[in-house]
Amino acid sequence: MDVSSLTIERVRKGLLGREFSACELAAEALRFAEAENPKTNAYLRLAPERAMAAARRVDEQLARGEDPGPLAGVPVAVKDVILTKGVTTTCGSRLLEHYVPPYDATAIARLEQAGGVILGKTNCDEFAMGSSNENSAYGPVRNPVALDRVPGGSSGGSAAVVAQGTAVVALGSDTGGSIRQPASFCGVVGVTPTYGRVSRYGLTAFASSLDHIGPLGKTVRDTATLLGVIAGRDPSDATSADAPVPDYTAALDGQVKGLKLGLPREYLKDVASESGDLMARGVDVLKKLGCDVREISLPATDSAVACYYIIATAEASSNLARYDGVRYTFRSGSAETLSDMYRNTRGEGFGAECKRRIMLGTYVLSAGYYDAYYLKAQKVRALIARDFANAFQEVDAIVAPVSPFPAFKLGEKVDDPLAMYLSDIYTITGDLAGIPCMSVPCGKTAEGLPVGMQILTRHFDETTMFRLADAFEKAGTA
Ligand code: GLN
Repeated sequence: MDVSSLTIERVRKGLLGREFSACELAAEALRFAEAENPKTNAYLRLAPERAMAAARRVDEQLARGEDPGPLAGVPVAVKDVILTKGVTTTCGSRLLEHYVPPYDATAIARLEQAGGVILGKTNCDEFAMGSSNENSAYGPVRNPVALDRVPGGSSGGSAAVVAQGTAVVALGSDTGGSIRQPASFCGVVGVTPTYGRVSRYGLTAFASSLDHIGPLGKTVRDTATLLGVIAGRDPSDATSADAPVPDYTAALDGQVKGLKLGLPREYLKDVASESGDLMARGVDVLKKLGCDVREISLPATDSAVACYYIIATAEASSNLARYDGVRYTFRSGSAETLSDMYRNTRGEGFGAECKRRIMLGTYVLSAGYYDAYYLKAQKVRALIARDFANAFQEVDAIVAPVSPFPAFKLGEKVDDPLAMYLSDIYTITGDLAGIPCMSVPCGKTAEGLPVGMQILTRHFDETTMFRLADAFEKAGTA
């Protein structure tokens, strides 16, 4: 059995046709993941007991003639910022090295309810802060497409396992681009749903007004299926939306003729030429499919990086205050007073990027600077959201680059946080506006590095986004 090429549909066919049982598939997927993982360091740990128990449930349901659900038997990987009951969840941080959550995130519970088999937890930047996976306390992930390059971040492990074939689909989280950018760097599909579409209950908070859980997969259809399973109102998350969840896969009908697409002028000026050329070719494919493409303007784009790094750090400084050596975390052994204990625990436990963000966030929220930074950033956020709202009066979807460049070399940007922050220049706007957005592969550079194209649509209109991405994927980029 070649687990590396499986899709959700293929697993279903194999199970229903009795080609293999869910237990056989899970055992083989675990074996393959364990054998391949040393190449990339994409999994932090496998969860064989949990995986086999889930697979057994699916086989029992099949034996009873019941429908085991849309994800029956599908091997899934989960970013290590999403809580899994009884399975260590570190958030890529030394502080949480031994943290075993007492409950499951809602997305996890729904995924297993639908028959999904969680193989293990994937590596990520510490508390999802980063764009290269190099901020993990457990070592970087290597990009399976080019092992001397980063997989992107912060959901680098989740993108890498899908690209490597050591999971069929994966869950990631996105605050400023952490699903789409690694998807683009690893050549897989990555989806950031509308803010509120998927419950954040059990997602470790980084910047709560921007955090999303979303799917990664080899195909648009697989991500649509997975989103359909995890989406929907959850009483445990007050920001989860009560909007009906359509059947996303039913929308994959190729009907994109006449769709109005906008190309934002501001997103095209700084794209490296090869990534830009690949995207331009992608746009030509969309035109051939009958889409009506026009240039649009999103004028507040230039302020997006500054706005994001004020709001995200402000919220992070507050969210990370809970890691104090009393609850959850490791505790420094070298303190004599309570305040030394706090200080030493946090000083020894957090990596450099988290400390940088806590300091920045505390600064922009401080009494003297609140108006100048935090309040102003909130106003800019409103302008960015308004730009999109205006654009969507004219067009049905926006097509844009995901990142200014393809996967860079390990170590290339670690000493230059500002250069690293610019990786997200095209992805953070979607999070700031709360609209659905995704990355779909649109070809490879001469060196063989994958490049993704971004599609953004109106709030809660994932359907149009999936329909367009699916038609594009089927048309091929060659
Ligand atoms: N790379 C961005 C950051 O470092 C986005 C991270 C994310 O989306 N979690 O904040």
